[in-house]
Amino acid sequence: MANARVTHEDGRVAEANSTAIGTTPGQVGIIGGGMAGLTAALRLAQAGHAVTLWERGQRLGGQAAAFPVAGTYLELFYHHLFQSDEAITALAAEVGVGDNLVWLPSNVGYFSEGKIWPLNGALDLLKLGFIPLHDRVRLGLVTAYLQRVRKWERFEHVTADRWLRRALGQNAYDKTLGAQLKAKFGSYYDQVAMVWFWGKIWLRTTSRRSPLDQEKLGYFRGSFNVIIDALAEACRAAGVDIVTGSGPSEVRVAAGGGVELVFDDRVERRDTVIATVPSSVFLRLAPSITGAYRDTLSKLTYEAAAVAILQMDRPLTDIYWLNIADPDIPFTGVIEHTNFVGPEHYGGSHFLYLSKYMEPDHPYFALSDEDLVAEYLPFLKRINPDFDESWVKRWWVFRERAAQPIVMLDHRKSIPAHQTPIPGLYLANTTQIYPEDRGTNYSVRLGNDIAKIVRDDQAAGRPWPTPAT
Ligand SMILES: Cc1cc2nc3c(=O)[nH]c(=O)nc-3n(C[C@H](O)[C@H](O)[C@H](O)COP(=O)(O)OP(=O)(O)OC[C@H]3O[C@@H](n4cnc5c(N)ncnc54)[C@H](O)[C@@H]3O)c2cc1C
Repeated sequence: MANARVTHEDGRVAEANSTAIGTTPGQVGIIGGGMAGLTAALRLAQAGHAVTLWERGQRLGGQAAAFPVAGTYLELFYHHLFQSDEAITALAAEVGVGDNLVWLPSNVGYFSEGKIWPLNGALDLLKLGFIPLHDRVRLGLVTAYLQRVRKWERFEHVTADRWLRRALGQNAYDKTLGAQLKAKFGSYYDQVAMVWFWGKIWLRTTSRRSPLDQEKLGYFRGSFNVIIDALAEACRAAGVDIVTGSGPSEVRVAAGGGVELVFDDRVERRDTVIATVPSSVFLRLAPSITGAYRDTLSKLTYEAAAVAILQMDRPLTDIYWLNIADPDIPFTGVIEHTNFVGPEHYGGSHFLYLSKYMEPDHPYFALSDEDLVAEYLPFLKRINPDFDESWVKRWWVFRERAAQPIVMLDHRKSIPAHQTPIPGLYLANTTQIYPEDRGTNYSVRLGNDIAKIVRDDQAAGRPWPTPAT
């Protein structure tokens, strides 16, 4: 068995086992059982690799996972698909749950100046009475323009704040899209690249046939667990060993070649390891990685999210997705799931999410669940004056630290390579999704892509170079 010495650009040297070279299917470890990890596991197992997937949590699905409620399942964080989400739609068909994916009309609104303004198309834009008519027309024209732009590269070098403020004028910007940017990105609102905002508009555009049509969004009957379970089943059928409630605390170069994974009670070795965890988690997992790669990862920032789910005996509004543009209200979105997927699917109960994105050091992120709900509930009366806390029968709070990667100017240059400085160790996470915004569809695409990259690298003898003779 010949060992190769690999010298990296940053000067580090690693030993690599040449038996891992070539097209022989090797042993692959995958860290993380979200959509990206499960998809990559399926593809590599289908290609003949011996795959083990470790998920630290007890349930699979990562950010898209659902928990049991009302005799069925509901996502910890609200989820739907857009009609452009082709990768996950194809995967659903492949794993046998294509028929569970239904396309339902969405119903969007905007809460401003004490009133709900429906926002389901171009005509609704013209009725937004909290800005003057000329601002409404301008908002409509800017939206129509963004819906038509395909060359997004021009939006990489300008912030959304700057571009939209100019395009809309100060007043319209502050009361509409500027308020939304602040709601989503907090103190980072003026650093987000316009390309991120363009991606959002484009996704919504492709969920309608024409601007006058009603938008349709996708949902898996029975929750996103339906595709997660079917995908996990397909993985197992292809030979993947899925281990939940377990994950490594460190990954490092293995002395004899490959990658070593350090668990609480043991050390394992794989030829190839794919980490699908957020960049901040990856930095802790791989302390031996230093230099430029660590610097790149350290600069990537995420917004966190804290979401309260209320189970109620009646609806709060008739809107599915209500953006809150009232700075006094502590949450920034009311997503009334049962106005999208009817309460008849939940034994007659109504479910709504009170959502807020925030910096991970925001005081709300550390509040107890009880205090967070107590903080949120009184404000529901502003949205529906009849609201009474007795309507709420149960509630839950879920938090996610790496909820939304922040796409800053020229993000493309900050995207970390999938191949990390440790030979055989790959990174595949939501910061590498670009120019589209993160989402389950793109994590499926990422899983497909990373599996192909691993196979191509193997076929070409990378990341282990041909040993010197
Ligand atoms: C509030 C909110 C709303 C959203 N809404 C939508 C939506 O409407 N539509 C949509 O398509 N997407 C939505 N998303 C985004 C979508 O859920 C994610 O982009 C996608 O699920 C990410 O999948 P992933 O596999 O890339 O990462 P993750 O889901 O983050 O999976 C990573 C996994 O790695 C595990 N892990 C971490 N460390 C270790 C370790 N040491 N060992 C083992 N495992 C480890 C984690 O537990 C996790 O399960 C939303 C996300 C949030 C937070």
